[in-house]
Amino acid sequence: MSERYDLIVVGGGIAGSSLAGRVAASGARVLVLERETQFRDRVRGEWVAPWGVLELERLKILEPLRERADAHELTHQSTGVYRIAKPTDLVERYHPNRPAVTFFHPTAQEVLIEWAAEQGAKVIRGARVTSVGGGESPTAEWTGEGAGSATARLVVGADGRTSLVRKAIGRPERTRGEMRLWAGIRMKNLDWPADTGMLTLDPRTGYAAAVFPQGDGAARVYLGPSRDERKRLSGAKDIESFLAGMQPLMGQRDVFSDAEAVGPLATFDTEMRWIDEPYEDGLVLIGDAAGYTDPTWGQGLSLGFRDARVLSEALTTSEDWRAASGAYAAEHDVYFDAMVKSEAWTEEVLLSPGPEGDEMRDRAFGAWAQDPSRNPTAAYNGPDFVADEEARIRFFGLDLVEAAT
Ligand SMILES: Cc1cc2nc3c(=O)[nH]c(=O)nc-3n(C[C@H](O)[C@H](O)[C@H](O)COP(=O)(O)OP(=O)(O)OC[C@H]3O[C@@H](n4cnc5c(N)ncnc54)[C@H](O)[C@@H]3O)c2cc1C
Repeated sequence: MSERYDLIVVGGGIAGSSLAGRVAASGARVLVLERETQFRDRVRGEWVAPWGVLELERLKILEPLRERADAHELTHQSTGVYRIAKPTDLVERYHPNRPAVTFFHPTAQEVLIEWAAEQGAKVIRGARVTSVGGGESPTAEWTGEGAGSATARLVVGADGRTSLVRKAIGRPERTRGEMRLWAGIRMKNLDWPADTGMLTLDPRTGYAAAVFPQGDGAARVYLGPSRDERKRLSGAKDIESFLAGMQPLMGQRDVFSDAEAVGPLATFDTEMRWIDEPYEDGLVLIGDAAGYTDPTWGQGLSLGFRDARVLSEALTTSEDWRAASGAYAAEHDVYFDAMVKSEAWTEEVLLSPGPEGDEMRDRAFGAWAQDPSRNPTAAYNGPDFVADEEARIRFFGLDLVEAAT
């Protein structure tokens, strides 16, 4: 007979473990099924935005990440068009008044899955979930370690981009269409300040480059080529091409002359993919399983932490877990929509080419300098703004054009 739990979490990545730990701490019986016996560098997110750091505090996992995963503070951010920009003080400038935080993703995963177990969750590593079902008695079946099945009041899909639980829900997936590629690698010995993140974009070529220091001389480095370049840089043989692509965006700075790779080079699509209402009849989704955005803007971890926080609060304050999951799904729709719009607006301003693009940037940057609340974009502040037509007009400074004519 299959064992019965309150909650089964499919996938013990950052979103799944954060949720499992919070819910287990309230006394519920929680099972985490994770297929990997050891986490490895898959070239995943390691920069947590200031608003995501606030979510870490609310989840009570910032301290474990600091103490055990060497979470590192980036107090400054340089976001530049055409050239590297003067860094902005994130703590002073943006509403959560927090620095960004970085860590090595596999270490953070190990720390969080251990933390979930310490909070009382039963964790099975090496368990690959092969099917899930909703209904009166939601179930999960798995192969590998302890192969079998279990039932629960609720099954959570925290199983990432290719989520099996999302497929079981079966709702049509939404995407934002066209995408560029995004290549990343972990390096050491960069000549770059340890407290500053960098994103530089060139609308003429469509290229973007990013550097996120992690402390101890390591940094995650990304290159996004133009939309029509489809070569997927991968492995040691392509590191030279990767660094050659970065160089035009670094200006005169010789950031990489002593740099060495300390992980694989891999390339991903920057598509967004999500479903509306990520809850159906005993099955609920969080993190990338519910929806993922364009990694260029580095929001996936913060969104995963927010999902874990919102759903865990709903489950630990209500007896009716179906209604609580429905309420979470409705809230997810609102903040995910704000994120999708905000990323699209940001991309339009920062990457539109030619004189029209320059004009758009002049107008928008001028409007933001006059009134910073015109740029509520999610990248640092978070998705807690009303992403309506009025917000769009204020973001692009379109009302100022009308006022001047
Ligand atoms: C190139 C790149 C760069 C990025 N950069 C950033 C960044 O700088 N900042 C940022 O915030 N975000 C970034 N992101 C996004 C971020 O990495 C993701 O949003 C985040 O890792 C999602 O976490 P998750 O826990 O939802 O999913 P995952 O990390 O994918 O975890 C899913 C877990 O489920 C397990 N699993 C899957 N299927 C099964 C199964 N059938 N049975 C059992 N276990 C299963 C997996 O092993 C895994 O441990 C980036 C993404 C990419 C691709």
